[in-house]
Amino acid sequence: MKSVILAEGKKIDSLHIGEHPVPVPEKGEVRVRLKAHTLNHIDLWVLTGSPAYSVPLPHVMGSEGAGEVDLLGEGLDPAFSFKPGDRVVLSPGQGCLVCELCRSGFESLCPSYRVLGGHLSGVFSEYVCLPPSRLLLVPPNVDPLLASSVTLAGATAHQGLVVRGEARPGERWLVVGASGGVGHLASLLGKVLRLDVYGTYGPEKKRTILSRSMDIPLVSHNDPDWPEQVMKLSGKLFDGVLDTVGGATIPRVLPMLRKGGRAVVVGETTGSLTQFPTRELFGRQISLHGVYLAHRSDILAMLEWVSRGSLRPIINNMGVLTSIDILKGAYRRMLERDFVGKLGFVWG
Ligand SMILES: [Zn+2]
Repeated sequence: MKSVILAEGKKIDSLHIGEHPVPVPEKGEVRVRLKAHTLNHIDLWVLTGSPAYSVPLPHVMGSEGAGEVDLLGEGLDPAFSFKPGDRVVLSPGQGCLVCELCRSGFESLCPSYRVLGGHLSGVFSEYVCLPPSRLLLVPPNVDPLLASSVTLAGATAHQGLVVRGEARPGERWLVVGASGGVGHLASLLGKVLRLDVYGTYGPEKKRTILSRSMDIPLVSHNDPDWPEQVMKLSGKLFDGVLDTVGGATIPRVLPMLRKGGRAVVVGETTGSLTQFPTRELFGRQISLHGVYLAHRSDILAMLEWVSRGSLRPIINNMGVLTSIDILKGAYRRMLERDFVGKLGFVWG
């Protein structure tokens, strides 16, 4: 079977496609034949040697994937009733499953929370063996690429907007960075939830692609006066802001919130903030939430919206992974932020 391997030196050029025997599930594991994968920023952090994801080499890449149950190992937990042929998506993050945080659905807060491909061996392989607690059933009408696309990024969007942000129908929300993996899914989810969504994007060429996929007012946050442009379009303050850009944008988004508004921060791609606008925070009683990854309940919620046809993620399908150059090119596009939505590939 083929796998995407990072062999030596944490850089994109060190990737290759390796050939290995198909793994046999150990006791308590299920073997999944993977069909499709989507890329995540965690892949880039691994490739650039981020200390948060310091993996030993060689390392199998990838956090997101979907396929079907292929073979059951012995001694499976009877709480799970998967059978060969079941269509499944992988739940990338998992805690210890037994602590109070895990049992109450907040497993990304568990001290033992580990992400496939980030802390553990990844899933960009034709076959992978995992405990069944890492698998979620996919509705019959959702193809593997779509299912994969709403695992990490989609779940983060759901956790930020719905669980932590407590967005309610009719509210006005701004998504800063609406063209990225989490941002475009949050914008699409916002429309499904009947929010009045506004979005910002970076380079001008992304506007056309975004406009085709979502009918929301858009402003480029590369323009120095973008907050003024957003407020001119909106005409009133926002109930909530979901900021996927973070860092430098925080002092500019907090004044755009109404009294008692909510700011949800899910990234820091514009660098760390050196001065925090404390007065904006307490003076107008704003709630500030940090969201980092999510829970399986978020993945299930997103799969349900996709299954109903209400939410259609933007996926740049690179096709069958016939050459590692396809994936190297995709990671370079991620580094240069030269795409909208998600990047994905399938096995032949
Ligand atoms: Zn736990």
